[in-house]
Amino acid sequence: MIFDSHAHYDDDRYDEDREDVLRMIQEQGVGLIMNAGSTEQTSRAAIELSKAYDFIYSSVGIHPHFVEKITDADIDTLAALATDPKNIDRVKAVGEIGLDYFYDNSPRDIQKVRFAQQIDMARQLSLPIIIHSRDATQDTLEILKRENASVNGGVMHCFAGSRETMEIVVKMGFYVGFGGAVTFKNAHNAVESVRHISEESLLIETDCPYLAPVPHRGERNHSGYLKLIIDKIAEIRETTSEHIEEVTWNNAKNLFRV
Ligand SMILES: [Zn+2]
Ligand SMILES: [Zn+2]
Repeated sequence: MIFDSHAHYDDDRYDEDREDVLRMIQEQGVGLIMNAGSTEQTSRAAIELSKAYDFIYSSVGIHPHFVEKITDADIDTLAALATDPKNIDRVKAVGEIGLDYFYDNSPRDIQKVRFAQQIDMARQLSLPIIIHSRDATQDTLEILKRENASVNGGVMHCFAGSRETMEIVVKMGFYVGFGGAVTFKNAHNAVESVRHISEESLLIETDCPYLAPVPHRGERNHSGYLKLIIDKIAEIRETTSEHIEEVTWNNAKNLFRV
């Protein structure tokens, strides 16, 4: 079965037909999903989804896009959500957290502080982290090292970096998540990383509704399209799709301890 290690089914692009989509992807072989939070509001929505559907788990975290105006109290609220007895069995990670210097929607110094703080929160909660890093490799690796984040474990999600970066991330003990980008024409870095990564560190993800793979690029994404990503990874690694499906299923279960 397929484990989608990163999705956003709380997104309003599913408001019209969320139930239908979730039923349809189950029929297409999707067995488990990690629905990531990116604000307090979407973290709450992720938790609600994971309580409504057995095959969905949730994470709580504030994405670097949205950290500019948050306070320490907001971080405490996330921790309280994760440890609430009504939620605790469904919340399996802290994220997505990290740095985004491509959009720079929040000042970089604030991004760094809130990233480090949420790593610390994850450690206190004994949860793995879901890392978002875009055009910020150096600072991301530095903070992960400084905060000793390897203790938490986690995944560098939506990876499109170089083979060298992938190898550092793996050596630090993190999983690496690959999605629709591996099917894009200009995906040289992602393809090289997929080719050389050790099997034990490989995860697949949609990041839906974003990043639909070819030939659906630009459309609303869903976990059923992971088959296309699995096929592409199998082709790159010269193995079978069944093998990639099985390996990534087991890896995601290990990471999120489910
Ligand atoms: Zn992300
Ligand atoms: Zn995401």
